[in-house]
Amino acid sequence: MKIWLDGALRDADAAQVSVLDHGLTVGDGVFETLKTTEGTPFALTRHLHRLAASARGLGLPEPDLDEVRRACAAVTEANPVPFGRLRITYTGGLSPLGSDRGETGPTLVVALGEATRRPDSTSVITVPWTRNERGALTGLKTTSYAENVVALARARQQAATEALFGNTHGQLCEGTGSNVFVVLDGALCTPPLSSGCLAGITRGLVAEWTGAQETELPLEVLDRAEEIFLTSTLRDVQAVARLDGRTLPGAPGPVTAKAMEIFAERSAADSDPG
Ligand code: PLP
Repeated sequence: MKIWLDGALRDADAAQVSVLDHGLTVGDGVFETLKTTEGTPFALTRHLHRLAASARGLGLPEPDLDEVRRACAAVTEANPVPFGRLRITYTGGLSPLGSDRGETGPTLVVALGEATRRPDSTSVITVPWTRNERGALTGLKTTSYAENVVALARARQQAATEALFGNTHGQLCEGTGSNVFVVLDGALCTPPLSSGCLAGITRGLVAEWTGAQETELPLEVLDRAEEIFLTSTLRDVQAVARLDGRTLPGAPGPVTAKAMEIFAERSAADSDPG
């Protein structure tokens, strides 16, 4: 496998990042995951804007987005796969301990692996831990993902594939790697960014293309929602068929099925909706 590291394509096995990189020592880094279909990344421009916004939020040097674009093109060309997962990682570079080595610039890694298509519906749990809707990292896609790893492990123990968080005010927020939509009295709603959720690229497109409303949603709505679905880069739109062990009959329901159809059509028609 070829990856991009600091300005050039390299063999993944031979590529080296310092063990004193800030991304490793303190999780001071940001990332993006994109899907590629036959070598074409989806929504690259939106992902690059979010990468830059996350980097700014962490106080990292502004990433050179032309280089990131070049890196994505080089990596997708060098690793031809029908359906891929393209990962951009951008970190603060050497930690203070390593700075006497004189290399203090940020680290950019772009890698691509084969992705698997997700089923149309899945099982989800809720977790008791809260997202902080007013933290320094809220809304940033940082490499500090351990909270999500813990919640996802809990989901897997319960034969589920995703875990949903509420925020400190008991409002529905998001999953470990997805945003959430619910249908209430026939209306499609999703938590607002003020809930503390990530501005998911898929969330944004689904909301624009379906006209879904951003509304604060107490966690209890999950008990009475007619339909629930998740959105993310590798899921697109995925219906929730079981929540905390309770079956949601008929998933994907009609609103979810329509959102799936609209997303599939619009994203096939335009691979880089600006
Ligand atoms: N929320 C979190 C915490 C995520 O990590 C992700 C994606 O990984 C999402 C939401 C969904 O975002 P996107 O649609 O951009 O993949």
